[in-house]
Amino acid sequence: MNSILTPTAEGTQTQLAPFQLAYYCIQLHQEGYSDELIFLPICSVCRQPIRDFSMGNLIVRTDDSKEWESVGIINDGDRLLRVPGEVFAVHFECDPGLKPWTRLSNVLRSDQRFEWEKSR
Ligand SMILES: [Zn+2]
Repeated sequence: MNSILTPTAEGTQTQLAPFQLAYYCIQLHQEGYSDELIFLPICSVCRQPIRDFSMGNLIVRTDDSKEWESVGIINDGDRLLRVPGEVFAVHFECDPGLKPWTRLSNVLRSDQRFEWEKSR
């Protein structure tokens, strides 16, 4: 089991791998259908793919020493600000409890087929 806490001279430090999407192929067992290609996030702690997006989180380690950067206007006047920090994908059981966070299923789609592929 991987530990996310590494002792340092100052105490402990969270060690997380950067956010990563990996490319997978689902080989369908039914004849006449093409294989499906999907992207899955890799858990930043255990390095295994997160196959069920409802069982994982996107977490952020913010850098409070940096300014928030304005990157434009959206929604007819709302400012869009880039918050300095790093994003990580984690399984529920691997989540070190960083905030802010959101469910992976709020951001990524499990069914990654094109709309025209969903009719079968
Ligand atoms: Zn994990």
